[in-house]
Amino acid sequence: MQPLKIYNTLSREKELFTPINAPHVGMYVCGPTVYNYVHLGNVRTFLTFDILNRYLTHIGYKVRYVRNITDVGHLVGDGDEGEDKIGKMAKLEKLEPMEIVQRYTNDFHKVLEQFNLLPPSIEPSATGHIVEQIETTKSLIDKGLAYESQGSVYFDIARYNAEGGNYGKLSGRVLEDLLTETRDLDGVGEKRNPLDFALWKKAAPEHLMRWTSPWGDGFPGWHLECTCMSTKYLGDTFDIHGGGMDLKFPHHECEIAQAKGANGVEPVRYWMHSNMLTVNGQKMSKSLGNSFLPAELFAGSHPLLEQAYSPMTVRFFMLQSQYRSTLDFSNDALKAAQKGYKRLINGLRIVKNLEYIADESIAIDEKQVSEVEKGIQNCYDGLNDDLNTAVAIAGLFNLVKKINQLYMGQVQTAQLGESTFNLLKESFVAIIENVLGLVEEPNENIEAFAKGMLSLYREYKEAKQYDKVDEIRGYFKANGLVIKDMKTKIDWAYEE
Ligand SMILES: [Zn+2]
Repeated sequence: MQPLKIYNTLSREKELFTPINAPHVGMYVCGPTVYNYVHLGNVRTFLTFDILNRYLTHIGYKVRYVRNITDVGHLVGDGDEGEDKIGKMAKLEKLEPMEIVQRYTNDFHKVLEQFNLLPPSIEPSATGHIVEQIETTKSLIDKGLAYESQGSVYFDIARYNAEGGNYGKLSGRVLEDLLTETRDLDGVGEKRNPLDFALWKKAAPEHLMRWTSPWGDGFPGWHLECTCMSTKYLGDTFDIHGGGMDLKFPHHECEIAQAKGANGVEPVRYWMHSNMLTVNGQKMSKSLGNSFLPAELFAGSHPLLEQAYSPMTVRFFMLQSQYRSTLDFSNDALKAAQKGYKRLINGLRIVKNLEYIADESIAIDEKQVSEVEKGIQNCYDGLNDDLNTAVAIAGLFNLVKKINQLYMGQVQTAQLGESTFNLLKESFVAIIENVLGLVEEPNENIEAFAKGMLSLYREYKEAKQYDKVDEIRGYFKANGLVIKDMKTKIDWAYEE
């Protein structure tokens, strides 16, 4: 089997994944700023790293997955001046900032659970790590890499680069170009250089979220929390740092500078960034009116949505693209994903109920065996090629064909032999449920309906009342189901 390779933004190449301290893997992912409902673009990012966490675990690593909650310091406009996003919302809603934080943290957790994302091992918050952020700021001042100015503290980029730092390396930007391009007037007069960024900001009298520090009352800069929390829980150098593409610059560039400045070593071995989400080919944004929330998607309650789409349909849909390519939302694509998801789940329902039937009169068919092995191999090759879930799903569909042949009796289980049969069953279930995190959505109404109708169906069939039999088939069809009264225990399935 191919070993796992992941695309490293730092080297711009797919690299063999070798953890610092196998079988342990340390992974940090920038979490949400909890001032509003989580949007779908964020969900895609967290889904990417959910798959990575699941896959690393599946192939035997012990993952410590840290994903933070940003509950202070992220300012409107993402720069160094302006209102805190959470503080602004607190004023608007006349609530304590921590009430805003709690409300949207709860929403975030609920949505990720609906999409069947596993929780991280540690979920630290920025306000829970103010002491660490003050200490790192002090240490950067001591090393001459940061300076105080009118109650705020800024990171000195020119000094950092003069001492061998390489600000711009991750995002591929050249310092001179950045300097001529920047029209950023944030902290003008306070900064030695317009590119310098805040480690600590002085709080204006009306600013709600504030802490005492050696430089007076203030709050930490947005980039600092991730440096402090990642290295606190994962060590000065750790394996993987992930986030959305939009965080590459300046957020992650600043994280590297702070960590290297404070600890003297590169903080991260593999930087991974997931791509954006578009709607009908356009960037998803509130001002374009094409931005909908997960809840609207599940209810079908947005003008752009022709129907409701279930969380597993959306999860399947997102996994049909590799995480580094853009992903376009459209009704047609979602409807196709709904069919694909059902096809896969039918395969899962069937395979779980298939049993090996030993038959010494049937010889093992090498062609059948190699088709199964190849199908499984394709799934793993896809996942090992920088988490190409699209390829893995295509491999699963090839296995679905084989599963249906076994179910229909076109291929006998004995033709595979017991070990290949078990390999097919175990791999298919594990890749779908454990790695891709796709599960059959519980639908009690459908279960009850199918159960009641099936007993009627059998009665009519026994009594040879074929018009009634057809009528019941029609009821199933109207509910998006088909009757599968074959020899196995599967008696109904989703219509594909
Ligand atoms: Zn971050």
